[in-house]
Amino acid sequence: MTRPGPGKHPDRDGPVPLDPFQDGPVSDDPLKDGLFREGPLTNDRVGGGALLDRFEQTWSALSRVGDEGARGYRRFAWTPVDLALRTWFREQAEARGMDCEQDRNGNLWAWWGTPGPGAVVTGSHLDSVPGGGAFDGPLGVVSAFLAVDLLRERGVVPERPIAVVNFADEEGARFGVACVGSRLLAGVLAPDAARALRDADGVTLAEAMRAAGADPGALGRDEEALARIGAFVELHIEQGRGLAGLDAPVGVASAIWPHGRWRCTFHGEGNHAGTTLLADRRDPMLPFASAVLATRQAAERLGAVATFGKVLVDPNGTNAIASRVDAWLDGRAPDSATVRKMVEEITGAAEAAGAGHGVRVEVVEESWTPVVEFGGELRDRVAATLGGVPALPTGAGHDAGILSAYVPSAMLFVRNPTGTSHSPAEHAEPADCVAGILALTAALEDLACG
Ligand SMILES: [Zn+2]
Repeated sequence: MTRPGPGKHPDRDGPVPLDPFQDGPVSDDPLKDGLFREGPLTNDRVGGGALLDRFEQTWSALSRVGDEGARGYRRFAWTPVDLALRTWFREQAEARGMDCEQDRNGNLWAWWGTPGPGAVVTGSHLDSVPGGGAFDGPLGVVSAFLAVDLLRERGVVPERPIAVVNFADEEGARFGVACVGSRLLAGVLAPDAARALRDADGVTLAEAMRAAGADPGALGRDEEALARIGAFVELHIEQGRGLAGLDAPVGVASAIWPHGRWRCTFHGEGNHAGTTLLADRRDPMLPFASAVLATRQAAERLGAVATFGKVLVDPNGTNAIASRVDAWLDGRAPDSATVRKMVEEITGAAEAAGAGHGVRVEVVEESWTPVVEFGGELRDRVAATLGGVPALPTGAGHDAGILSAYVPSAMLFVRNPTGTSHSPAEHAEPADCVAGILALTAALEDLACG
């Protein structure tokens, strides 16, 4: 859907009165007659009507938060924008009579039923990258709340509690480490290391949490929260064109490629741009440029993807040869060995280029996430419940990928017609979003009642 234009929402400046049932139940109950029994969904079988209206209503209240217009979304962890997103989440929970709690690691949980073991958990994240799109994260949270509504209207009485979750700081846009909330919860990020993470202004995560009224002292592996999760199903917009190519509105994730981030530092020598002879220069920009080109070539040759998307130049003056360049390499491939080989080749090319220009090159691994296979019972069960939707891998990391090492986890993808993501142009058609909600509802019903 497109973001709402001015004038379309008279409630823009005030709190949005929330009554998920104000339009009455979804009259045609598309799930009732075994929507998925005939096979995977197609748009002409989804219908939509009241559910589509309800989706757009819920979406519009959220879509204003952190919207920077043509520049996209900026929803960084523990900022006032994040707090507004958290308030929206609490209001959604409250409107449904769901108890809402913030766990030790800043993740928000809304409960249908008493929190306890065996819970069927769904949701995603509400933060964004800089210049982000509307759907990455929020689609999973909005779909989760609307799936709960559908289950209740249909009179479903879950045998196990159902929880909607908003994981903290999934994108890592502010502090540089992705999936901080789920990593801390699972114990794969040390609390001290997390507290010491710094944003671009030098503010630590601990300071940012405190300023936002949260207690950084409690961070760490949360046995109790982990033990409650019986299964986690995260719905997410696809960040590629796989489903578009398959002509399918919804699919399940088969795997997340292994991926990592490397900080590459090129130590040169600052000097005058006009008076320093070319032969006398130690310009770190030159080996950096070689590294960028080598990266593209290595990725193409190895069937991987690799990106330099962030660069800091010191001192960053037009008429000064840089003294130092820090650049971050993001590398991903279907298997770990390929990523390692690629990074080795890029490092070799950068060092060779550096040697030719008197520039010392340092490459430090900042994060590494091994391959995630969404294998086994849960994925197959969800796919079967949905009439056999396609399964496809992704190069993007997710909280479900972190949690999959500890609890049964699966992902649903909703078609992205262009594949564009982490960009204001990110888009999913409303009919596909409705198909996603129906698919999630069916999956939750099967898992919570079966
Ligand atoms: Zn996401």
